[in-house]
Amino acid sequence: MKPDYYQTLGVDRAADAETLKKAYRKLAMQYHPDRNAGDAAAEAKFKEINEAYAVLSDFDKRRAYDQFGHAAFQQGGAGAGGFDFTGGFADIFEQMFGEMMGGGGDARGADLRHDLTITLEEALSGVEKTVRVSCSAACGACHGSGAKPGTGYTTCDACRGRGRVRATQGFFTIERTCPTCGGGGQLIKDPCKNCRGDGRVRDEKKLAVTIPAGVEDGTRIRLNGEGEAGARGAPPGDLYVMLSIKAHPLFQRQGPHLLLRMPIPVTLAALGGTVDVPLLEGGKTELTVAAGTQTGTQVRLNNKGMSMLRGKNRGDLYVELMVETPTKPNAKQRALLEELAKLDEKGDLFPQSRAFGKT
Ligand SMILES: [Zn+2]
Ligand SMILES: [Zn+2]
Repeated sequence: MKPDYYQTLGVDRAADAETLKKAYRKLAMQYHPDRNAGDAAAEAKFKEINEAYAVLSDFDKRRAYDQFGHAAFQQGGAGAGGFDFTGGFADIFEQMFGEMMGGGGDARGADLRHDLTITLEEALSGVEKTVRVSCSAACGACHGSGAKPGTGYTTCDACRGRGRVRATQGFFTIERTCPTCGGGGQLIKDPCKNCRGDGRVRDEKKLAVTIPAGVEDGTRIRLNGEGEAGARGAPPGDLYVMLSIKAHPLFQRQGPHLLLRMPIPVTLAALGGTVDVPLLEGGKTELTVAAGTQTGTQVRLNNKGMSMLRGKNRGDLYVELMVETPTKPNAKQRALLEELAKLDEKGDLFPQSRAFGKT
């Protein structure tokens, strides 16, 4: 047995339109699928609420329901023609909550996307960039209204200013957005010549975008209201700046840290000493290399990595030492290397190489 529509919404049979709307809004918010993901009972309840409201908020359907009950909407029932409820709920919901959000009428402008590439150094320090965006802007001549200055609007005849038209199908009426005025309810008497009545013109704007220190590759920065202008004075869209960070020839980013693969001469690795390490922010710092350093050894330099998005700390810089072997020694150097090889009488100069695979 299908529950009574009035009971579903928790109102009495004499409830007026405003009471119905309030009751529906409260219940629809409570049982909306976005708030009850995966809850089948809530979903069923949401459908019931929508169905009840779809009927009771429509004068003709409510009258039929009052007279015939659920039979009014069954195929071949007393209502004749029946009414399909499978579609249209989202429509009702959006229409109502669109109204609440101050929407309705002309469409908001489209969002825009702008791709911006910065260097790793810029991501470290933060940077201000100017972006040029080609977009539509409110027409200066008519201030975005689309009407020729000094002229006004007339009410749309097709919908009598309601923005929605009704089509009668048998016993019932179905409402849809008015195709003549596009839902605005108003028509321009005399269109603005500059924008041909659209209220928008093409424009290029320059915008300053502040990019904070420590941004990640792929960060999306939203600039509110900097997208396409809306038609005839509707709110503008947003501009999304999509950041990418260019690969650096020396430094690799690893989250908050940086990795630097640095070659050092085999002689330095064997004997120990110091070496200058370049820094991403410019300049360098001296690093002590221990005698007998192997290739692949990582040395951490605290606080020399990337900036963090929040807070003043920086990540660390990991210097990975790569021992460089001479490839083109001259005759004298070669003789010295040969001498060194000969001096390895006991075979303990390169113990790892000697021992490898022998156990
Ligand atoms: Zn204009
Ligand atoms: Zn209209």
